[in-house]
Amino acid sequence: MIKICIDSGHGGNDPGAVGHGVKEKDYTLKISQYQAKRLKEHGFKVVMTRETDTTLSNSTRTTRVKNSGAKVCISNHVNAATPSASGAETIHSIYSNGKLANMILDELVKEGFKRRRAFSKKGKRGDYYFMHRQTGSVETVIVEHGFITNAGDVQKLKNNWKKFAEADVKAICKYMGVKYIPEKNPTPSKSSSKLYRVQTGAFSKRNNADNLVKELKKKGYDAIVVKQGNLYKVQTGAFSKRENADNLVVQLKKDGFEAFVI
Ligand SMILES: [Zn+2]
Repeated sequence: MIKICIDSGHGGNDPGAVGHGVKEKDYTLKISQYQAKRLKEHGFKVVMTRETDTTLSNSTRTTRVKNSGAKVCISNHVNAATPSASGAETIHSIYSNGKLANMILDELVKEGFKRRRAFSKKGKRGDYYFMHRQTGSVETVIVEHGFITNAGDVQKLKNNWKKFAEADVKAICKYMGVKYIPEKNPTPSKSSSKLYRVQTGAFSKRNNADNLVKELKKKGYDAIVVKQGNLYKVQTGAFSKRENADNLVVQLKKDGFEAFVI
């Protein structure tokens, strides 16, 4: 049996990144628990660094990974930066060829995250990140599932965190040469149901719509211009759940935009 280690970033006293009403530690745990279940379904043996909302010191965490006997470890995280930064990135050890990190990034991009990069970083004592430096021979990849500081990414996480968790599972299967079995009951595809769209403006001049999009993007929102009749409408999101659209409207209003659900 091939062993895989799943590290759920942060936890307990350490919330990780916080933004837009969500905590990194909650998403890393949800993603990790889901991945553990899915990897077991594929016949892997799974070791987790934490299974609940508990505090782990860096050394406890890395010792668990190091002693897990796992081939690879996925360290789940959500990034933080300025509001405009968005997308997925993966970080591998300077001693790794980066193959797994690139495969995971590819799958995350297929599920809708903007591609940032798969990279490694050198520090004074070898690897820069302790998750690489202190985990021995376990091939550890840090996976950043979007940015908690970016409104668009947080919406993506809220709606699609399972899909992103599944993307990592798919990449691990491919990398380990294990046949990937799609999830039996995936969340129903959104295209089949009604979508609730959030509109932030409607203009007769394209230029005005483009300016609003620029302003929205500066604040970290995903926005597009949709032409309908003679009007250029600015949309910041489309959701299958009314609740998610309503939440975005509240957020937009807080940031000083006019917004409503159509
Ligand atoms: Zn983190």
